[in-house]
Amino acid sequence: MATIQVQRKQLNFWERIYLPEIFRGLAITSGHFFRNLLFHGLRAFGLKQFRGAVTIQYPEEQRPLPLRSRTRHRLTQREDGSPRCVACMMCETVCPALCIYIVAKEVPDPDIEKAPASFDIDLGKCVYCGFCVEACPEDAIRMDTQILDIASYSREGMMYSMDDLLHPEKHANRILVDPKRP
Ligand code: SF4
Ligand code: SF4
Repeated sequence: MATIQVQRKQLNFWERIYLPEIFRGLAITSGHFFRNLLFHGLRAFGLKQFRGAVTIQYPEEQRPLPLRSRTRHRLTQREDGSPRCVACMMCETVCPALCIYIVAKEVPDPDIEKAPASFDIDLGKCVYCGFCVEACPEDAIRMDTQILDIASYSREGMMYSMDDLLHPEKHANRILVDPKRP
């Protein structure tokens, strides 16, 4: 295999003595500081069109995400609280990360036929592509919880069960949707 040698750009005299670069960095930082100071000052006097940068105190304070963001999954519910999912396996089949595991069971209702006995998603493998949501013919799975802070001390902790997916508020600092919303 051919080896490509990349020549590093040589520093010129002014770059080698560092001082002009330090002053250039300070000028950029100060520029942002005074610009924000000015904008916040103008805003305080009622000129709302000026918006200075603000610091969000994460995780106590969280910025609302755009509504179309793909966030942690949830399973939607019927009026009686049972999952809308009919265990058709479309999402499991389309999932490129192979991280959806469904076990189906029969139900007596002839209009439903099947329901999930278990429905697990391994969020440690999920790539948040949203294909499962697109493939679902029942609108039974959505990625609209607005929850993105997903973490665990173990791989097992990244496995979300049907109960977790039906009640996403259980594992969240915040949830911006009503899980019973149809
Ligand atoms: S978002 Fe993509 S990777 Fe994640 S569970 Fe759905 S289909 Fe699989
Ligand atoms: S595609 Fe929808 S209805 Fe089918 S198994 Fe997945 S969540 Fe259930």
